[in-house]
Amino acid sequence: MWTYFPELLARPVPRYTSYPTAAEFSPAAGAIDQVEALEAVAPDQPVSLYVHIPFCQEICWYCGCNTGRANRAQRLSAYLDALTAEIRTVATRLGGRGKVNRIAFGGGSPNALAPAEFLALLATLRDAFSTDRPILSIELDPRSFTPDWAVALGEAGVSRASLGVQTFDPAIQAAIGRVQPRALIGETVAALRANGVASINFDLIYGLPGQDQAGLSATLDEAIALAPERIALFGYAHVPHLLPRQRRIDASNLPGQDERFAMATLGHERLTAAGYEAIGFDHFALPDDALARAQREGRLHRNFQGFTEDDAQVLIGLGATAISAFPDLLVQNEKNSGRYRMRAMAGQLTGERGVRRDAEDRRRAHVIEDLLCGRIATVAPFLAEDGLRDRLAPFLAHGLAVLEQGGLQITPGGRPYGRALAALFDRYRIDQGQRFSTAI
Ligand code: SF4
Repeated sequence: MWTYFPELLARPVPRYTSYPTAAEFSPAAGAIDQVEALEAVAPDQPVSLYVHIPFCQEICWYCGCNTGRANRAQRLSAYLDALTAEIRTVATRLGGRGKVNRIAFGGGSPNALAPAEFLALLATLRDAFSTDRPILSIELDPRSFTPDWAVALGEAGVSRASLGVQTFDPAIQAAIGRVQPRALIGETVAALRANGVASINFDLIYGLPGQDQAGLSATLDEAIALAPERIALFGYAHVPHLLPRQRRIDASNLPGQDERFAMATLGHERLTAAGYEAIGFDHFALPDDALARAQREGRLHRNFQGFTEDDAQVLIGLGATAISAFPDLLVQNEKNSGRYRMRAMAGQLTGERGVRRDAEDRRRAHVIEDLLCGRIATVAPFLAEDGLRDRLAPFLAHGLAVLEQGGLQITPGGRPYGRALAALFDRYRIDQGQRFSTAI
């Protein structure tokens, strides 16, 4: 059972899918740094690729992703041409160095493409990069998933798929602009399994308009019955000042902070009782899943896709807005689709904003990742910082974390406070106002 300490969750904090976070990106780092980082990749260094497809058949009102409607074939094909050009430019810079072990397709919804376009894109990637049998994963929108897509995924050897499920409640689906009957999810899961996709993730959301604990419980029942290997249970972040599409959501009907905490607690209890292991602060995995094994063996990591067992130090993002991570650099591709296309088609790298990571950033990144991944973080060098012990004290007093011999570890009851604890070691967080979502 988790205990609610509202004062410890009052401050908006980042999700820490990177450190420094994207909020620290600026034009001070860009394509020139990207060239340098790509040229520093060693011949057999493990590399992961992330390919961004910023299109969806329909746009959900709550969505925080960079995506647009896939309503014009010409727009999609122009984007794919630019993506192909970018892939070739990056591969040329790598010059055969780096070994691609994983390729993740995300968005948006990669299945906004036609299956044949996806297969052609995969063939381009295999041709351009040094890779053998990479682990292939994809994010899918069940509303635009077709039998042809299931066959294409089988043919491609995709082993992991993540479905945007969010909620099974029809009234809440209508309130968030994402209507997808339960039968559709069931059919998608069956088609994926029949075509060799061994690991399926459901994204679920709590804190939606009109949602209460009973409603969330019913959604969890439906999810558990379909037995996905992984479940990510996120809190809905209502930030219409940053995401205008969220203005369509009735904010007066959103659950309060205490109710959100109760829902997060309920999700944790229901899923762990159903045999899932809690991973970090918002993921769950069946014990045989690679993510659960990684956590048990102390190999869990956190990157732009959330908690992962991927330990590659180089993650190359391809596509508009995609972020690449190198040991000393985080860099985001051009967001504007027109400028992205122009630069990519001109044979340029498209990095536009980013941050160079100095030794201090890397030390803090290590602490934050260790904390969020459940390991003991070496915090001794930071304890003398002005006010840090005072800020840490309430977390320790409530048993949310344990500090022993300069090592700090979040306790099981401290999981919902993970981001708030991590923020204590973030040198860029002084007063960020409403820039981030609430910590639960
Ligand atoms: S399908 Fe996913 S990416 Fe597309 S609009 Fe909906 S939530 Fe956003």
